Amino acid sequence: MFISTRGGSERLSSAQAIIQGLAHNGGLFVPENIPHISAETLASWVSLNYFERAFEVLKLFLTDYTEQELKECIEKAYGNHKFDHSAIAPVCAIDQNTFMLELWHGPTSAFKDMALQLLPQLLSTALKKTGESHEIMILVATSGDTGKAALAGFQDVEQIKIMVFYPDEGVSAIQKLQMVTQEGHNVSVMAVEGNFDDAQTGVKQIFNNKEFAEKLNQSQVRLSSANSINWGRLVPQIVYYFSAYLDLVAQGQLKMGDSMNVTVPTGNFGNILAGYIAKKMGLPIDRLICASNNNNVLTDFLRTGSYNAKRQFYKTISPSMDILISSNLERLLYLLTEDTAQVDTWMKALSSEGYYEISKELLAEIKEHFWAEWVDDVKTGEEIAHVFKSHHYLMDPHTSVAYEVTEKYRQATGDMKPCIILSTASPFKFNNSVLAAVTGCNESEIAQKNEFELLKELSDLSEWSVPANLVSLQSKPVRHERVCSTKAMQDCVAQFLHLEA
Ligand SMILES: *Cc1c(COP(=O)(O)O)cnc(C)c1O
Repeated sequence: MFISTRGGSERLSSAQAIIQGLAHNGGLFVPENIPHISAETLASWVSLNYFERAFEVLKLFLTDYTEQELKECIEKAYGNHKFDHSAIAPVCAIDQNTFMLELWHGPTSAFKDMALQLLPQLLSTALKKTGESHEIMILVATSGDTGKAALAGFQDVEQIKIMVFYPDEGVSAIQKLQMVTQEGHNVSVMAVEGNFDDAQTGVKQIFNNKEFAEKLNQSQVRLSSANSINWGRLVPQIVYYFSAYLDLVAQGQLKMGDSMNVTVPTGNFGNILAGYIAKKMGLPIDRLICASNNNNVLTDFLRTGSYNAKRQFYKTISPSMDILISSNLERLLYLLTEDTAQVDTWMKALSSEGYYEISKELLAEIKEHFWAEWVDDVKTGEEIAHVFKSHHYLMDPHTSVAYEVTEKYRQATGDMKPCIILSTASPFKFNNSVLAAVTGCNESEIAQKNEFELLKELSDLSEWSVPANLVSLQSKPVRHERVCSTKAMQDCVAQFLHLEA
């Protein structure tokens, strides 16, 4: 059963927790018990493929789904050649002890696909299982990657509609094309006048409007979101930590039982938290290395125990990590302390003061599992160029941050054990920054070129092929051309649902 990180009497099945998303007291859902995997069981998974490993892990957490239901969800998410690599999340060796776990072989070339391909299937199945008759309306405000991955995941899923709002001036040309060409009978995409904060504020206002919720309720519709606080988005991410370890054992890079480190380019703390849960389940992970960009609030927290969100916000070349409030940290604090009253106090302080501080004892415990460092944009670009020249491997800026932090960890600690770096985006998704880094041209020169020329240039240079989903954008018709003001967002939702004004 699932309970809230902030206490209270709510106790839900996994299907219910996935439908509801957030606990009524504002907390996040966590499993009452984390299952443990024995060494023998782990060894028996070496010969399994990604689908089978996903099934073994998911069934431990989603205990109210039948085996048949889980298998169907997994097949729909990762099957049907939606991923352009048969291993789904392959591990690529850079040198003897450094490995890239490539999480970007999905339909939108970003790591968000790993979770957002599966969450819609889990949600749709949950609606059927629980006899929920309402239709679900998913609202997403996006600064780029999440919107497209959510659209692709929810496209044509039964009983669910999705509407994505993106800032008119705030996404890259490729990201915009990815969204405005989206197909599906249940999707809508809308540009919002303003920046990402305007779009996000608009969506929050719709969620908080009680009158509108009542009107939706009368029409048998319920609002929901697709962001990473939903347990259904977190659980698919546990799978690839296991899968990466098992792959290294199968390839003879590790002996069963040997431990490894992992480095995670971190924003909302969802990905790295899934790694911590894998470790708690018994996967031999030694250190979880938390990599940040200039927005280094997590580096400071994991080193000092003080979380201080009152600081300058930087726009960087690794935008998916430009974040000051990392929501999933709340789950880590709960899992380490199991003290819901304390978690509640910290989270209230964070929302009212933008600050909280944990005890020295808890900080010491965190440091047994985590290490943290950050990297600025200049160094991030230099590492892209360096790794391309020395290993002929092309990293996107997020992956580069993680690579450089891994180097810093090794220098600081001397710990050279095998390390898996989570590679979270295809370099082609951030072709401007990657081309600038590799060629030494400045970004404004590059920004003048057409996106498809840039993709070709990067492909010629690296001899890597452009992901098919990005190539196909050039010939796809634009289906979503509307722009609205923040004030009009709610009316857009009403229109999409054919509600009376
Ligand atoms: C979302 C994202 C991240 C951050 O992941 P979190 O789970 O939010 O920590 C890192 N890199 C890329 C490319 C992303 O899209």
